[in-house]
Amino acid sequence: MGDRIYVDNSATTPVSESALSAMLPYFREHFGNPSAIYSYGQEAKKALEDSRRVVGNAIGGLSNEIYFTSGGTESDNWAIHSVCEVKHKKGKHIIATAIEHKAILRPLEKLRDLGYGITLLKPDTNGHISSEQLERAIRPDTILISIMMANNVMGTVLPIQALCEVAHKHGIIFHTDAVQAAAHIPIDVRSLSIDLLSLSAHKFHGPKGVGALFSKIPLVPSPFITGGGQEKGRRSGTENVAAVVGMAAAIAEGSENLHHNTQYLGVLRDKLIERTLKIPGAYLTGDPVNRLPGHASFVFEGVKHSVYIINMLNEAGICAGSGSACSASSTEAPHVLSAMGYADELAQSALRISLSHYNTEKDIDSINETLPRIITEVRKRKDTPLG
Ligand SMILES: *Cc1c(COP(=O)(O)O)cnc(C)c1O
Repeated sequence: MGDRIYVDNSATTPVSESALSAMLPYFREHFGNPSAIYSYGQEAKKALEDSRRVVGNAIGGLSNEIYFTSGGTESDNWAIHSVCEVKHKKGKHIIATAIEHKAILRPLEKLRDLGYGITLLKPDTNGHISSEQLERAIRPDTILISIMMANNVMGTVLPIQALCEVAHKHGIIFHTDAVQAAAHIPIDVRSLSIDLLSLSAHKFHGPKGVGALFSKIPLVPSPFITGGGQEKGRRSGTENVAAVVGMAAAIAEGSENLHHNTQYLGVLRDKLIERTLKIPGAYLTGDPVNRLPGHASFVFEGVKHSVYIINMLNEAGICAGSGSACSASSTEAPHVLSAMGYADELAQSALRISLSHYNTEKDIDSINETLPRIITEVRKRKDTPLG
């Protein structure tokens, strides 16, 4: 990564050394097709099944509850569609939150067009959804509640256990998008009693384009990918063995170091937040306490658009984000902040600094030396960038 400071780890992370070295043999020495019966195939098959166990273990689940996918987006889509199909006799109402990732919101919009009732709960000013609020939204025809474990834009860790209990009290299936949470905060699907959970490897130092869906209920085959019947007939296509092995190594490493990383990142994050809030007109977004260990997010009064901040930080060798990769280059404010009641003007100034254990105290010093000057500079701009 050279001299640049990378602090957009909620967008993606570099592959760790151990994940990379775990993957390499599966490109050449053990390149076999896991469906083949000769030794090359069986080696690949074993790697796949070992990885399934490791990924299951990391979240307190069993290997036969893990299905490999192409990433968080596919896992989210599949979870929703599977429940719709399994529960079509019960009803057509789904509850989610207005702060979900687009990988949840877009499929729900499509379902709304098909006649489903979709309720999107609005969080409070810290980004939380209360049990009472959820309970009020439940209808006799509610088939699914999908609420993320941690938010990508403002870092809030949601009270999933309580929300899941409400769902189960009413006999409703509960899905959580744990893409930002996995390997960053402890997850135990058993004690939380979660039915479905989405993971993505590239958010925890694994490779891009691979993820998993945990499901303790019978899944219907992915409607998007039919063919040779891999993943117990649920999701066809030759498995991406090397990527799956990389994901398993990364989640194992992340879980093992979770306690240490939480402490380390918490100190850096709090220092960063404390110093950034000294900038007049700077505000923290999300929960000040219950937030992801390395996640700091801000809005700035009088800044026309976060693109100006991000570009100037980039010129200073600092790579940070606005909160969602898709809106970084558009004039649209992050939907999460708008849903939380931030005025468009303020929401558009969102800056997200998300750390990993590769960051150092020096990085934080460097950001805190640079940022006040940049904010002063961009406040002089009165134009808005074109979308
Ligand atoms: C990144 C992200 C996704 C999408 O995962 P991909 O593997 O990039 O498809 C879904 N949900 C959340 C909360 C995310 O941060």
